[in-house]
Amino acid sequence: MFKILIAGTLLLGSLVLLSGLSPALGRLRDVIEAIVPVAHAGDGTGPAAKEQGKVRKSDDEWKRILSPEQYQVMRCSATEAPFTGRFWNHKEDGTYVCAGCRAELFSSSTKYESGSGWPSYFAPVHKTAIGELKDISLGMVRTEIICSRCEAHLGHVFNDGPRPTGLRYCVNSASLDFVPKAAGQADAKAAGKPRKE
Ligand code: FE
Repeated sequence: MFKILIAGTLLLGSLVLLSGLSPALGRLRDVIEAIVPVAHAGDGTGPAAKEQGKVRKSDDEWKRILSPEQYQVMRCSATEAPFTGRFWNHKEDGTYVCAGCRAELFSSSTKYESGSGWPSYFAPVHKTAIGELKDISLGMVRTEIICSRCEAHLGHVFNDGPRPTGLRYCVNSASLDFVPKAAGQADAKAAGKPRKE
């Protein structure tokens, strides 16, 4: 009888101890996951996956790579004067790439004359090439567009474009470089690759 009493007490004590530890163990697991994000490894949603393919550089590195005008536009969101850039009146066939990281952004087949003085396109080369941010500067609400790969400022997108999208991607020439269609395989391949500087 005495042994049964001791066994019962030990069992009850263990249950109380475990129920008391359960929240503490849960908190411990949360802390471990915060420090070591193992739960996201390989599932495509973790911080590493989001960073995959991104180009990250310090301000000093961008200053070395870009011209002063490109740096002001691409890294400080300045706007070049209309009718002054390299591409507002450019009509060659080819691909417009990011001047910072060489990511393909726009095809000449979507370029049109908007009359704005900035190169304008009705669509990017593909949806993921361009990122969008809300811009409330200058007392207006606009949608800023950035290069998805290096997050350089490109310009803005507006809802007054032509068919089939009705969108106008209004881009600073300073944010772009151009790869002519006739440039051949080597240039076409280089267009999509991050620059090495
Ligand atoms: Fe870029």
